[in-house]
Amino acid sequence: MTTPILLTPGPLTTSLQTKQAMLVDWGSWDQTFNQLTASVCQDITQIANGQDTHVCIPLQGSGTFAVEAALGTLVCPRGKVLVPNNGAYCQRIVRILDYLKRPVVVLDHREDEPANPERIEAALAADATITHVALVHCETGTGILNPLQEIAQRVAHHGRHLIVDAMSSFAALPIDLTNTPIDALIAASGKCLEGVPGMGFVITRKDRMEAASGNCHSLALDLHEQWAYMLKTGQWRFTPPTHVVAALRSALDQFLAEGGTAARGARYLRNCTTLVEGMRELGLRTFLPDAMQAPIIVTFHAPDHPAFEFATLYQGVRDRGFILYPGKLTQIETFRVGCIGAIGAQEVSRAVDAIAQTLHEMGIHLQSSLSNRV
Ligand SMILES: *Cc1c(COP(=O)(O)O)cnc(C)c1O
Repeated sequence: MTTPILLTPGPLTTSLQTKQAMLVDWGSWDQTFNQLTASVCQDITQIANGQDTHVCIPLQGSGTFAVEAALGTLVCPRGKVLVPNNGAYCQRIVRILDYLKRPVVVLDHREDEPANPERIEAALAADATITHVALVHCETGTGILNPLQEIAQRVAHHGRHLIVDAMSSFAALPIDLTNTPIDALIAASGKCLEGVPGMGFVITRKDRMEAASGNCHSLALDLHEQWAYMLKTGQWRFTPPTHVVAALRSALDQFLAEGGTAARGARYLRNCTTLVEGMRELGLRTFLPDAMQAPIIVTFHAPDHPAFEFATLYQGVRDRGFILYPGKLTQIETFRVGCIGAIGAQEVSRAVDAIAQTLHEMGIHLQSSLSNRV
């Protein structure tokens, strides 16, 4: 059996070239590996146009490790963080801050409601002790896009600091640090850059990082220490994920050759449109209206049919070569399909066919919902 195509938001399907970049064993002290790390960090900073103001600090582990490291390092022990909450990854930030014993103000939203800039501004005006806002750009729990640019302007207007979890949007949706005031932008190797999972990175303002010495509660997650050590030696503190870095170097080369963020975002949008239209033709409904949907991952309502079970759909689609993703909403039954990875509209079309065949096998026949789209 051939390896399945992953329609999940990380790990995701990588190209053969990216996989082949891992066939070398790198010495972590070796100059060639240090240069590899430096070039990866330089390119990542450039993607967000942060080369004059920001530095990229890589960190071993999955994306959450980088989120926790950024919050623990940049929010000083007397800080207080506002978290606009419209999904699972926002809630994860709140949990991290609870572990760090930093006071949090949670601004709850519905899961189908983008983070509201006016409400954020009002909350900042009402509480002068809030030092930071922690925002998720694309909330992968549902696939909703939060209005980063507008929120960033308002946070800066009130003189507060902004930390952005751009894990599932970085390199697919434009973020320009020269005109968007952001202290720190967090993402990882195995999302829209289409590398393999294993490292995160934080693109952070140099002056903020310089001021962050001694903040962090954790040795392994102390980004200031990681940065200072790397500046001094060119090396990672502790064993680097060498193969992950090598794969990311290759993935970055392919990203740049494709045409950067604009081209990658356009391909994901074609994937997303193909997916949503195909699924609506089958009678499946999206959880979000099109205007709020980021072209990263789409949440679908489970069909309202007694024979439907996600596990059966998953297995049938799996047997046909595709991996789906369960839903992450607590109130209603949903499932998710990713649009990202080294795939194009053709693969997405075949995935929709696999879903159609499996639903047919399950005895589920629905009315096309194309006519009553939101
Ligand atoms: C993937 C992701 C993360 C990190 O999740 P890990 O499982 O630790 O890689 C964080 N935030 C968002 C929005 C994500 O999509």
